[in-house]
Amino acid sequence: MLEAVKMQEGVLDRLSDRRLLRPLAYVDGQWCAAASAVTSSVSDPATGATLGTVPDLDAAETGRAVAAAQRALTAWRALLPQERARILRAWHDGMLAAREDLALIMTLEQGKPYAEALGEIAYAASFIEWYAEEAKRLNGETIASHLPNRHMTARREPVGVVACVTPWNFPSAMITRKAAAALAAGCSVVVRPASETPFSALALAELADRAGLPAGVFNVVTGNARTIVGELTRNPAVRAISFTGSTEIGARLIAESAPTVKRLSMELGGHAPFILFPDGDLDDGVEAALAAKFQTSGQDCLAANRIYVHRDIYEPFLARYAARIDALCVGNGLDDGVEIGPLMHERAVDKCTAQVADALAKGARLLAGGEGHPAGPLFYRPTLIADMTPDMQIAREETFGPVAAVAPFDDEEQAVELANDTEYGLVAYLYTQDHGRICRMTDALDYGMVAVNCVKITGHPVPFGGVKQSGLGREGGAWGIDEFTELKYVCAAYRAG
Ligand code: NAP
Repeated sequence: MLEAVKMQEGVLDRLSDRRLLRPLAYVDGQWCAAASAVTSSVSDPATGATLGTVPDLDAAETGRAVAAAQRALTAWRALLPQERARILRAWHDGMLAAREDLALIMTLEQGKPYAEALGEIAYAASFIEWYAEEAKRLNGETIASHLPNRHMTARREPVGVVACVTPWNFPSAMITRKAAAALAAGCSVVVRPASETPFSALALAELADRAGLPAGVFNVVTGNARTIVGELTRNPAVRAISFTGSTEIGARLIAESAPTVKRLSMELGGHAPFILFPDGDLDDGVEAALAAKFQTSGQDCLAANRIYVHRDIYEPFLARYAARIDALCVGNGLDDGVEIGPLMHERAVDKCTAQVADALAKGARLLAGGEGHPAGPLFYRPTLIADMTPDMQIAREETFGPVAAVAPFDDEEQAVELANDTEYGLVAYLYTQDHGRICRMTDALDYGMVAVNCVKITGHPVPFGGVKQSGLGREGGAWGIDEFTELKYVCAAYRAG
């Protein structure tokens, strides 16, 4: 099958398992091209080289994937939970066994440093392992009856066919965090991955196939977003849409799903505040601000977009932060030691450029970077701007790039006010050693997640998600599977003996 399509030879040579790089959609257990033979090409953001092509399925072909998922549902949901768990577990094991190839595919199409890509594969697989276990614990409840001679139960049943629409910044984990929970609950799934990163999704399909997921239970459709996602939102057989991406597109999908009244899980944009008090070690604070801002080269919904530093340590913080930012290693994610890869597309570079220009025009100081990087047209120098004010674009909009913006604050009350002054509410970072302040501020911060004296907080057992315009619902942990189950109340009358 691979021979039938154009695929850059150099790429195939680097994989130990060439069949993981699939240039076809995966529907009903079959690899398929579009009937129109139209394809879209996928390129390496670090070099601009074309990696290969994937089919542009149309709405009817997407509808056929939904129909396949609908047909597969009955048998899949009827399996004993431990049988679903066994297949999910095999999928997880297959991912870990193939992690180096999967990470290579990810770095090639997404650009993130190879070490980060390896980390994402482990992270992505961990959701499958977790939900394989959760499948066995999908218990309901017995209700204490308020009527005589009745047995009342609340059962959890799979919601049905689930469509997963995912972004390019975490090409594997944003799929498994949704799909593993849905599959464990007994749902079938149609995934529409981001246009930039379909190969990571298709490699997951290849491994799902090898793990024994029955035909139609897990499908990956590629092609134009409006066409495919339009069909997924319109199609009444799709009972839930689980989306990760921007608030703008998420809001659109909510509206498009309204006529068919679907279950919605929305992991949307972030605009994280990072608040640093002067009561801790300054170097620790600098390292934390570095990690919080520059993870995933700044293309991360959890990236610290507004860094608030207490005025007492403001200038010393800026001096040390600028030095650390200047020292970050920028380059092709496949090269050793690279910490910051390319941005995903020209729009992202333009947004960084525009936000920096706007900030400087409104009085910010440029302390590092502030321009493109010689590594290539999609690279942007890690940048530090100081003296951010609320009227600047960067104080209001998610950057999604390696630009750190810092402002001073004077007291706890002001820090909370600045942090909450946004329509977003995904994550807030708080650095302080004062226990009372931690209690007060974790209460007051209007966010779905608060990281206190740490940056890395995500993982399979925790409820990931935001409030306000950062989303609806939670992914991960015992909560994540709730998004894909319906409660069925059964009231059974019996004759008194
Ligand atoms: P995006 O532009 O909203 O795209 C997300 C997905 O929606 C992609 O598959 C995209 O397809 C598709 N899409 C785009 N336009 C569409 C339309 N008109 N109708 C239907 N589908 C459409 O977001 P992104 O740029 O990929 O990702 C960055 C955003 O995701 C950021 O805002 C970030 O904060 C957010 N994010 C949130 C989380 C979280 O867990 N809360 C995690 C990661 C990222 P194409 O690829 O073809 O455009």
